[in-house]
Amino acid sequence: MADNIEDVIIIGGGPAGLAAAVYTSRATLKPLMFAGAPYGGQLMLTSEVENYPGIPTIVGPELIERMREQVREFGTRIMDQNVLKVDFSKKPFKITADKDYLAKSIIIATGAQALWLGLESEQKLRGKGVSACATCDGFFFKEKVVGVVGGGDSAMEEALFLTKFASKIHLIHRRDSFRASKIMQERVLNHDKIQVHWNTEILKVLGEQHVEGVSLKAEGKTSDLKLDGLFIAIGHKPDTDLFKGHIELDEKGYMLTNATSALAGKKLPAFNPKFQTGTSVEGVFAAGDNVDHVYRQAGTAVGMGIEAAIDAERWLEETAT
Ligand SMILES: Cc1cc2nc3c(=O)[nH]c(=O)nc-3n(C[C@H](O)[C@H](O)[C@H](O)COP(=O)(O)OP(=O)(O)OC[C@H]3O[C@@H](n4cnc5c(N)ncnc54)[C@H](O)[C@@H]3O)c2cc1C
Repeated sequence: MADNIEDVIIIGGGPAGLAAAVYTSRATLKPLMFAGAPYGGQLMLTSEVENYPGIPTIVGPELIERMREQVREFGTRIMDQNVLKVDFSKKPFKITADKDYLAKSIIIATGAQALWLGLESEQKLRGKGVSACATCDGFFFKEKVVGVVGGGDSAMEEALFLTKFASKIHLIHRRDSFRASKIMQERVLNHDKIQVHWNTEILKVLGEQHVEGVSLKAEGKTSDLKLDGLFIAIGHKPDTDLFKGHIELDEKGYMLTNATSALAGKKLPAFNPKFQTGTSVEGVFAAGDNVDHVYRQAGTAVGMGIEAAIDAERWLEETAT
């Protein structure tokens, strides 16, 4: 059994969790962070990050290391372990990793994972022309030819966003129609830079050091298509399975907070507009890509992590006995 009660436990050690750690540790709450295994989150899979304010260019893992160093200096204890179980049914809250830990408040920042096609060649060229984020990497493809894979709204958004940079976009979809909303489909189908490849599967991403193209299969025939980059836009999965049945999630598994549920016209059981990052359980706060399926950026995750830290700090002050 746990011997002491932490003020705050942070679950997740990506940008959102680390930002929450900066603020809670400077507020002298001595946060205990379970950073996950592997630690660091999605930025660990990123090469160049050029859109983090104040840092013109940095590789993702270095940005994470700098954040970890900063929070340790302020007194955050980091454990590079996964939380295996949670119990939010009574206070103090209990979480289980190598043993049980108790806490007065919890910040959940377990993030999300981009879904990939699952090809070996795709994984080999990740960060070398294969990307899952056009907002992040589109800029590197000025006047280049790129492919986008997918048929939902995110694939349409990624393809349209890339028209600002690329000279040509091949939108590759394995079915004969898109799942995306009518308006997005129309924009894509009417764009003169976008060519749609229906009923087409990617067999292999070509290239050794960098993407050079893809090998495609359509109507039983295979062919090669030259590309400078490939954007996989087949969806994201929030890392929230652990919390099912413990806090309210939306139908896709994203955590509902007072802010996001209010936007959808709903009120969570523990609704208090003062605590925007509050979840359905009072004292449990959530931040980052496990909540956000719209913006999905390091900067926005950091912003939400800061909000969760301030919410936790104020909630602890208000409920202190
Ligand atoms: C290929 C790629 C390139 C990108 N490039 C950029 C870019 O250039 N600029 C930009 O701003 N954004 C970029 N992003 C997006 C950015 O990485 C994410 O928006 C950001 O990392 C989200 O931060 P987060 O803290 O919410 O979640 P994550 O980064 O997903 O971190 C979540 C953390 O929680 C941990 N975790 C999960 N489950 C548990 C558990 N049970 N117990 C303990 N820990 C757990 C995970 O291990 C992970 O460490 C990119 C994303 C990808 C995939």
